[in-house]
Amino acid sequence: MIDFNQNPFLYCLKDCSTVVTSSPHESVDVAVVGGGPAGAVLARGTAAAGLKTVIFERDRLPRYKTCGGGVQHRVAKLVGCDLTPVIRTSVDRMVFTYRLEHPIERVSPQPVVHMVMRDAFDAYLVEQAARAGAEVRDRTRVDRVDCRDDGVDLVTASGVVRAAVVVGADGANSRVARDLGLSGGVDLDLALEAEIVTPDRLRERWATTALLDLGSLPSGYGWLFPKGDGLSVGVGGPFKDRALLRPYFEQLRRYLNLEDATVERFTGHQLTLRRPGAPIVAGRGILLGDAAGLVDPFTGEGLLGAVVSAQLAIGPVVRAVAGEPGALDDYQRAVDRELMPELLEARIVLRVFDRMPRLAHRLMGTGDLFWRNLAKLMLGETTYRSLGGGTFRVGWRLLDRLLPPAAA
Ligand SMILES: Cc1cc2nc3c(=O)[nH]c(=O)nc-3n(C[C@H](O)[C@H](O)[C@H](O)COP(=O)(O)OP(=O)(O)OC[C@H]3O[C@@H](n4cnc5c(N)ncnc54)[C@H](O)[C@@H]3O)c2cc1C
Repeated sequence: MIDFNQNPFLYCLKDCSTVVTSSPHESVDVAVVGGGPAGAVLARGTAAAGLKTVIFERDRLPRYKTCGGGVQHRVAKLVGCDLTPVIRTSVDRMVFTYRLEHPIERVSPQPVVHMVMRDAFDAYLVEQAARAGAEVRDRTRVDRVDCRDDGVDLVTASGVVRAAVVVGADGANSRVARDLGLSGGVDLDLALEAEIVTPDRLRERWATTALLDLGSLPSGYGWLFPKGDGLSVGVGGPFKDRALLRPYFEQLRRYLNLEDATVERFTGHQLTLRRPGAPIVAGRGILLGDAAGLVDPFTGEGLLGAVVSAQLAIGPVVRAVAGEPGALDDYQRAVDRELMPELLEARIVLRVFDRMPRLAHRLMGTGDLFWRNLAKLMLGETTYRSLGGGTFRVGWRLLDRLLPPAAA
């Protein structure tokens, strides 16, 4: 955990809300709205390329973010910095339950996923961006974005800033998406999550073990992710099923024997799932991460989409600032080519699992085939499309055609 009072750099970052955007028309190359992982990774790249880059973050950093905090190995590799200082623990055991019964425990010889708390993780990535030369203005909400021919105006309480390019990395309810006319191209999930102090009696049980419960919702799942001193316990599914989430969360808490444990926070947050072809570029603006809807529909993980989209955007943004016409359109093409095929495959996997959660749970406990492949997926050694040498893909595509539709 980063201690903001010990680290002089972060102390300065913490106080940068006092920087006033005094000039009514201050000019920057790249205005990044949102200091989450997508914004931080993009800003580090464009600042390192020599562009005047400013991150506008509405909250004071470090800020809490509702999130399981599961960081895939692929994410850890792609962020391009050592995440050791912010990893709370790494999971090498998983328990799978079906409707909060029939626990099946599987062990991996190596950790399948790292666990972070997002306040420290995100602040750490923002720190990397600042080190590369990006300016960070926290407690600075962007209230409006006006796209013009010669630039983009960002309206904040402390003034108007003109940017050559605006990057919407402002999460699921993106202001930038709305102002660029790009909202509405996503389906919505909703998740509830509690941060719970690990009771001493359960400390060892959940030291490096995570739990996933399948089949309790028409679609979606419940989880427990270990965080050392804390446990992140949550439930999530399609927005239309939101009324089912709170009762399910309470059942999960009872099942985990956490009824008397201290709940430090209990929050909800949307997840955005981009529909095929939905535009994520308009004029001088682009969307990244959750603002673009790049969450995996099957697992609900969005950190990979945030980091990959940010990296795909760096080159096009640098070229756009240099005045190359159509450069930003290359970003959307890159997302459609590099990210969307996996996210669309994940939609098919989700549809099949929703119709046969019991079988999926049983297969997890039968032999090693399912578990080994899931672990490989989590380790980043394979993709949905190439799982089992592509045989899984054939299987679920067939099942998607043959199985009756899930009950509405
Ligand atoms: C309950 C839950 C559990 C999850 N668990 C996982 C998990 O285990 N693993 C995983 O990979 N993903 C998980 N996700 C998804 C993951 O949290 C997101 O995909 C990820 O945070 C996206 O990063 P981002 O940078 O795009 O947006 P965010 O992290 O949401 O960052 C957006 C930032 O923009 C700021 N902002 C918003 N509006 C403005 C404005 N107008 N002006 C200035 N700043 C603004 C916000 O304050 C925020 O800091 C989970 C999500 C939920 C809801």
